[in-house]
Amino acid sequence: MLDELTETLQLKLVNPNAHKQRKLRETVDEYQLALHDAFDQDCDTQTKTNDVVVDYDLSGYAKNALKQYVPNLLDEDTYDADELREETHPVRFTNEGPSLDHKPQNAIEWYVKIPHHDDYHLWLPAQPPAHKHDWLEALYHGDAEMGECQLIERDGEWYVHMPVTRGVEQSRSASASEPTPIGVDIGEAALATVCHRDERGTPTTPTIWSDESREVRRLRKTYFTATRRLQQREAARLDEEYSDELWARIDQLIDTVSSDVVAHAQTVENPVVVLEDLQHLRENMDYGRFMNRRLHGWAFATLHAQIEYKATEHGIPVATVEPAYTSKTCHACGEKGYRPRQGTFKCTNEECWVSEYQADINAALNIADRYDPAGESQPQTHSDS
Ligand SMILES: [Zn+2]
Repeated sequence: MLDELTETLQLKLVNPNAHKQRKLRETVDEYQLALHDAFDQDCDTQTKTNDVVVDYDLSGYAKNALKQYVPNLLDEDTYDADELREETHPVRFTNEGPSLDHKPQNAIEWYVKIPHHDDYHLWLPAQPPAHKHDWLEALYHGDAEMGECQLIERDGEWYVHMPVTRGVEQSRSASASEPTPIGVDIGEAALATVCHRDERGTPTTPTIWSDESREVRRLRKTYFTATRRLQQREAARLDEEYSDELWARIDQLIDTVSSDVVAHAQTVENPVVVLEDLQHLRENMDYGRFMNRRLHGWAFATLHAQIEYKATEHGIPVATVEPAYTSKTCHACGEKGYRPRQGTFKCTNEECWVSEYQADINAALNIADRYDPAGESQPQTHSDS
């Protein structure tokens, strides 16, 4: 069974300059005039509305939205023209108008296209609310649909309200069996390591995506070596030309890995995908000079968001757990240990059968073990730490 999840994302337009603010204001004012005109002329059909709004200097997307909106408004029969203020009747665009672009190399990653008039539109950087990146990822990858958007000015700030709908399979958690937490460790050595315990508590054979992280490292190195060797001006030019491609290729790898992780989870009965809470990572991401580090953090955060929405899409619940010490705790005895090398975890408890263990698998098992079914009234939780 397929359900639909809809959420209206409030994207804040970040620091539009004076020129762009003026253009947004023009759209709002023109839309208000057209709305009033059509209302005053009792346009109770799309055709009548069209005849009135056609002459206004608005994009076709705003006019089409008015053609739907005005007849409905008249149908309700509760409004008079005085009530048609912009706060209650903001500019609407049919969903073919606005679109989304992703530039993860920039401090504000997301851009939204806002129609202005027929041959003219504005691209503006837009900040989604925290915890909503998975919705934008889904939309950007064609796994969700955009609805009719609204352009809103509130307290001197501009927002786009963008309804997004995802088809999701109904959760199968109604089944009688206990949920099986599937631990997903996202990391440097392997982009993802996935492991869970069988019904006797024994770790099953893990799946490790390390070829993909080698490829990410290779792309990163090629790019950064190339830019470092060049003069600053040359480097800036190369950055313009190649960085979109670099990020797009890494995004493609992440897209593949996240689909594979979810496919792996689907082979387990009654799975729950368990991830570390990475919100702190995104919020503290260094947007300063260190492009390399930003790319690194971005890859983690994007993989996280994509696994989240793709699992949900397939009816698999997702839980996030406290990330502290997942890589330095022994999954067998719970004692703190250490990492003598990147890929190795060492348990210091002499009673414990574990002396050395593959570090990422150890971490994935700790993540799975932190899943608390009782603490999960919501399919997802996020701590604010
Ligand atoms: Zn141990």
